[in-house]
Amino acid sequence: MNEDEFRYEKLSWPEVNDAVEKEKMIVIPVGSTEDHGHHLPLDVDQRLPAAICEKTVRERDDTLLLSTLPHGYLPHHMDMPGGITIRWDTFVNYVIDVGISLAHHGFQRILLVNGHGSNHHLLEQATRQVNLQYPGVRCAMLSWWDLEEVKETLREVRDGGPQGVGHGGEMETSVYLHLAAEDVDMEQATRDVNVPDNPYFHNVDFAGENRPEDSTAVTMMPWWTTFSETGVMGDASAATAEKGAAIFEAATNGLDNVLDGFAAYPIREIVDKHPRDVSDDAYNPFRPR
Ligand SMILES: [Zn+2]
Repeated sequence: MNEDEFRYEKLSWPEVNDAVEKEKMIVIPVGSTEDHGHHLPLDVDQRLPAAICEKTVRERDDTLLLSTLPHGYLPHHMDMPGGITIRWDTFVNYVIDVGISLAHHGFQRILLVNGHGSNHHLLEQATRQVNLQYPGVRCAMLSWWDLEEVKETLREVRDGGPQGVGHGGEMETSVYLHLAAEDVDMEQATRDVNVPDNPYFHNVDFAGENRPEDSTAVTMMPWWTTFSETGVMGDASAATAEKGAAIFEAATNGLDNVLDGFAAYPIREIVDKHPRDVSDDAYNPFRPR
């Protein structure tokens, strides 16, 4: 048995058919190439979800791992050096095309695992389009820090205070320390929590821990250097490899649980409830292909 057999790209085409026959699920890590402060490399948002997905999928026999999509949507980071940004519509269409390629070959359950905050809303749109175009396919997405298991662990281990768990902050730095401490320069890890005195407009905390008076109803993303000095949004100085190990384990457990649920999710046929046939193009604008 090949130890890489969970990697989609390692299959031959007859093995692709076998995998479809066995109803294997597909997991796709999606990331970005983007500045994460002075202390972290540009690959944080791709390396973390890739590692979480690899660890999880490797231990399952019903799932395949597609290679990581490394570039995402980050025009608001282009005031910082290094980022590679993909236009929002190009990114959405690219992800749709990846999804419908898999659907075309017969895969029915596709899960995108996101590692970059500003991909989230676009991935949600892309997965919807795959489901609309292929009614027999279930395409889903999650951002890994949104897993309940991760949030629970963060509440236990975090020290950086409200809004400390943002971009390049306590969570991402800790997980990177766990995966590859040699690539993190903790001497340069800073706390950059620029909290405006405003309950509606404040820093994002991935774990949802804000000041008690803060609302999360409003979403706004201005240019990065207008609210961050170092590129960090959070508290990188509070990061440790031990916290990272706990967060990483929570993420792999959480993803494993999601995949259990996904495997069990029934795929039912659409039932057209109209009294007459409306399956013409004019009434069916949601399947462009
Ligand atoms: Zn990040």
